Amino acid sequence: MSNVIYSSERGSLCPKCGKPVADCMCKKNAYSPNPDGIVRVRREVSGRKGKGVIAIRDVPGTLDDVKTLAKKLKTHLGVGGSVKDGRIEIQGEKLDQVLAFLKKEGYTVKKTGG
Ligand SMILES: [Zn+2]
Repeated sequence: MSNVIYSSERGSLCPKCGKPVADCMCKKNAYSPNPDGIVRVRREVSGRKGKGVIAIRDVPGTLDDVKTLAKKLKTHLGVGGSVKDGRIEIQGEKLDQVLAFLKKEGYTVKKTGG
């Protein structure tokens, strides 16, 4: 006898959303911002060319919220950007515009780094 505890035709279900694990989006949406609700924004330099980007992290909400915000920012500023591991990267030296936009959207923001 093997040690099978439980198995159904549908396979295991995610305890969070109740969907079969294969269809579960929870993991994809897993994202844990800092619980203090403060969005941290800082200027970073990416790559050897020293191109500046604005990194935004700890956006409250889900990963979808982060992606939506990234989209809004890109549209608003007319620049490129990306989301990776819940962190938004906006291209260009637009720190002031990013800060102003986030404040306007109702976020509490804090400038970090140099
Ligand atoms: Zn799930």
